[in-house]
This record gives sequence, C-alpha cells and structure tokens, in this order.
Amino acid sequence: MKKLQQEIAYFNKKRNWQSYHTPKNLAIALSVEAAELLEIYQWLTPEQSEDVPPQTLAHIEEEVADILIYLLTLAARHNIDPLTAARNKMKKNALKYPEPENAPTSSADRFSGKI
Ligand SMILES: [Mg+2]
Repeated sequence: MKKLQQEIAYFNKKRNWQSYHTPKNLAIALSVEAAELLEIYQWLTPEQSEDVPPQTLAHIEEEVADILIYLLTLAARHNIDPLTAARNKMKKNALKYPEPENAPTSSADRFSGKI
C-alpha cells in the first residue's frame, strides 16, 4: 500500500498537481469518483448488478481505482495509514455490532480469510 502511495505521489509531483490536492479538494474528488461508480449501477436491477458484462466490469474497475487513488492521496496528506485506520475501525465496529449468539460462522473463520 505504501509503495502505491509513493507511485501516486510521484505521478502527481511530476505533473505539479500537489497544489490542487488540498484535503478539501481530494475529499470532493473522492466523492465524485464514488458517484461515478454509483452511476454505473443506477438503473440496473439488483440481479443485473450481480452479473455485469465484461465492459461494465472494466468500467467498475476503473472507478474503484479512481476512488482508491484519491483515498490514498487524502490519507497521505493527513499522514493516515489507511490499513491501520481500517483495522482500528473494524475493532470499533466489532464492539459496536457484536456477533449474534447464533452467527452462522465463527470469528476465526471470518478473520482467517475463509469468508
Ligand atoms: Mg472516474
């Protein structure tokens, strides 16, 4: 993840885009890219959204990339390690939303990557 952030920073620096990349602008750009992803699904039925054609999947992949690039750029501007932040948030979520007693799978399965 850190290497990708460095590649993004290098790309931006070579184009002298850092001055445009204020945290406010990056948050706006991130939101716009998320809206572009949403636009792909806008008129699909739930069933259609589960089985998109290859051309649509390629478009989804590009928007996911745009979102990740802006998210990593924003995180870097605030010296946030996005993986640590996500892990910390998952811990908070686990406390906020405890597993029901009759959960179909165990936490061990979930955190081992089996599901
Ligand atoms: Mg885009």
